[in-house]
Amino acid sequence: MIANRVNVAGVEVDNLSETEAVAVVAALVEAGGPHYLCVINAAKAVAASRDARLRAVLKRAALVTADGMSVVWAARWLGKPLKERVTGIDLFARLVQEAARRGWSVFFFGAEDESVRGVVERFRREHATLRVAGWRNGYFKPSESAAIAEAIRRSGADVLFVAMGSPAQEYWIAEHMELTGARFAMGVGGSFDHLSGRKPRAPRWMQRTGLEWLHRLLREPRRLWRRYLLGNAQFIRLVVGQRRHRGGA
Ligand code: UDP
Repeated sequence: MIANRVNVAGVEVDNLSETEAVAVVAALVEAGGPHYLCVINAAKAVAASRDARLRAVLKRAALVTADGMSVVWAARWLGKPLKERVTGIDLFARLVQEAARRGWSVFFFGAEDESVRGVVERFRREHATLRVAGWRNGYFKPSESAAIAEAIRRSGADVLFVAMGSPAQEYWIAEHMELTGARFAMGVGGSFDHLSGRKPRAPRWMQRTGLEWLHRLLREPRRLWRRYLLGNAQFIRLVVGQRRHRGGA
């Protein structure tokens, strides 16, 4: 929503609470598509600073929310505080609930078979009225993308969640969303793994204090240390540069 955006490290972030974001998405779905939402964290902001394609995808997003605590801290330090952190995984769960309430049909696309099946089963258990248009895993050849988009269209999905990690999911959505016929799409990263119970989520206290990244880092240090430590250093550099450019806040 153009009206109230905060620029953090070159990315325009919507200043919305989670509840407000759910209401905006509901209005977008009811108005008809295609619209998509992106969540932003430090790593994605750094990637966008180097990748024109990702920048273009973020620019076209109907909504961009602050998934990472470092984005919330940066906005505050820049003198334009965001109302709150709106994580992808929590927003995803809220939107599925909203879909069940409003009768939107939902397609779940991404992750391994067991995760996507698990997440569908879980949401069906939690929301008796949920209309599941379909699901499929996130492992395929690039040449299959058009056929997958067509299958989503045939499913009649109103809303599409794509769990393939960044930036693959953002690229896929921006490129194929129109073909899918969905009104709204969103990339949800590893959410199917966590919500299906295949990978544990951080304990509540860590979620509340913005330490989920530490939980992930401790579980998969080899895979993630570069992303987190170097990524955050680069993110800080971008934000410091931004504040200096403005002449300080
Ligand atoms: N994934 C996929 N297709 C691929 C590669 C990855 O569907 O070709 C899935 C993977 O199974 C996992 C998710 O994408 O469920 C990526 O999770 P990760 O936590 O790495 O994403 P992030 O939230 O960090 O962007």
